[in-house]
Amino acid sequence: MLIYKSGLENAVNSANIKQVAPFTFAKNTTYGLGGNALKAYYPRTPWQAKQVYDNLKSCGTRFEIVGCGSNLLVSDSGMEGEVISTRDLRGIIRLSADKLLCLAGTRISELLAYCKNHSLGGLEYLYGIPATVGGAAYMNAGVSGFAIGDNIVDVCVYDGKIAHFSHEMCKFGYRRSTMRDINALILSIIVKVDECSLQDIDDRISYFKNRRSHLPKGKSCGCVFKNPEGYCAGKLIDFAGLKGYKVGGARVSDIHADFILNEGATANDVKTLINLVKSRVFEKFGIVLEEEVVYIGEFNDFNS
Ligand SMILES: Cc1cc2nc3c(=O)[nH]c(=O)nc-3n(C[C@H](O)[C@H](O)[C@H](O)COP(=O)(O)OP(=O)(O)OC[C@H]3O[C@@H](n4cnc5c(N)ncnc54)[C@H](O)[C@@H]3O)c2cc1C
Repeated sequence: MLIYKSGLENAVNSANIKQVAPFTFAKNTTYGLGGNALKAYYPRTPWQAKQVYDNLKSCGTRFEIVGCGSNLLVSDSGMEGEVISTRDLRGIIRLSADKLLCLAGTRISELLAYCKNHSLGGLEYLYGIPATVGGAAYMNAGVSGFAIGDNIVDVCVYDGKIAHFSHEMCKFGYRRSTMRDINALILSIIVKVDECSLQDIDDRISYFKNRRSHLPKGKSCGCVFKNPEGYCAGKLIDFAGLKGYKVGGARVSDIHADFILNEGATANDVKTLINLVKSRVFEKFGIVLEEEVVYIGEFNDFNS
């Protein structure tokens, strides 16, 4: 078994896969917070990603998959384990008139630029989401009734073997997907697009850009909480009197109360404020807010 392990390690080293140690979450998340992981691997091809995955699994090493880190709150002590970063796993291939294959680390912004250059529409609602397509598929990211799952026709995942999930198999829901349930590594996705005039694309981008122009600026993970059925999380937080509420350097935005901003915070400040918001909203409305943000590492929840 040891021989097998070192064989895989050698394979990862000889495959010339970029490795960085330690991996600093504070520099690799939009929150700009959190401690370190021991090491990160940056595969550039699906084959390299499989090598890294197999190596970590066979060594029994705990690991997390990180895209743009735009939906992560990582504890101040970081995590014990390593990271597969999909940042370099990028590329777009046009499979047919209306289908694009995107490697998991392709940025949403790159995908939209490609679409515009090729007069392809249908994904404009994703404008401004600072994500990789893999992270977006995993979370089923979207806005105002649209989500990337609507356009996804296939997801290629790896969990020791390659599998292809059709749209139906992905079971997309509000910020959920089969890929999230099984925690597999997404290697690529295929999205459906429409041939479209540049004018229509520009008009739709302007519409979504304008909607986003009102969102708070600063370091955040976007919305911290999902909207409970029939309610808007931001409004509940606002009506609970928490707009502008601070814990250390973490503050509930005055503009959109579902955003918690890092203004010199620790991850623990943000987590403490999240817990406080949840309990105040529950006390006032009897509604349990559920986090959209994904936690990595251990948090001390007793001081909330
Ligand atoms: C300013 C701002 C605005 C935002 N606006 C929106 C919005 O309008 N709508 C919305 O839905 N979200 C929004 N978000 C949140 C965030 O961008 C999305 O959740 C996005 O899908 C996360 O993608 P990521 O690549 O950054 O993933 P990460 O944050 O790096 O990871 C998120 C989760 O996905 C998993 N993951 C990532 N890549 C893979 C992969 N290849 N295989 C398997 N698992 C993977 C990670 O393990 C983690 O559990 C916003 C965030 C910010 C900071």
